[in-house]
Amino acid sequence: MKKDRAQRDDLSHFGRLAEYNRKRHFGVTPEPQGKLGRPNRKTLEFVVQKHRASRLHYDFRLEHDGVMLSWAVPKGPSTDPANKRFAMQTEDHPIEYNQFEGVIPEGEYGGGTVMIWDRGTWEPEVDDVEKALAKGDLKFKLNGKKLCGSWVLVRMRPRQWLLIKHRDTAASEEDITAAKPRSAVSRRSLAGIARKAGATPRQLAQAQEADRSAAIPAE
Ligand code: MN
Repeated sequence: MKKDRAQRDDLSHFGRLAEYNRKRHFGVTPEPQGKLGRPNRKTLEFVVQKHRASRLHYDFRLEHDGVMLSWAVPKGPSTDPANKRFAMQTEDHPIEYNQFEGVIPEGEYGGGTVMIWDRGTWEPEVDDVEKALAKGDLKFKLNGKKLCGSWVLVRMRPRQWLLIKHRDTAASEEDITAAKPRSAVSRRSLAGIARKAGATPRQLAQAQEADRSAAIPAE
């Protein structure tokens, strides 16, 4: 069914966000529709969204060329340079997505609770981001509430990257996802977000389970 729909609808005018739009039913999901942002802005945004979908992961997104380049990081970012975190590149997201905290309905793509775990600005530490992406070696600096300092994304295989903290004053052996499990914008837990957004009992239970694994008491 979904394939038929994709073939029928020409989404090419969405450019880099065609895949994002193809995967979602905007009459059902509260996620924003994918519109291209202004490219080459002076200040670039980054966001990390904690997402309890079929399983818990962290979506790491960097603004580039009017979209958010996106990677799903199953274990989440680590501030310890000894930890190389697997990061699967996913479809580009709209910049507006950085504001999204809520619940994607069951049965929809990525169904589950989404938390804005961290956000801020980023700066490339390379002259040409496009070239660095093509090479599979992007060095950058984060200015977030939780994540700061110098980082690198290194591509191992097509779409498969590693996210690694560089050694600097922002590096730490502290387990940041466990130490700072709550929303950077609302201080809410996943369960708090799920309940407010009218999650199903199953989605709420999954959010509570993810909170418990991060040592947040039941809410
Ligand atoms: Mn996700």
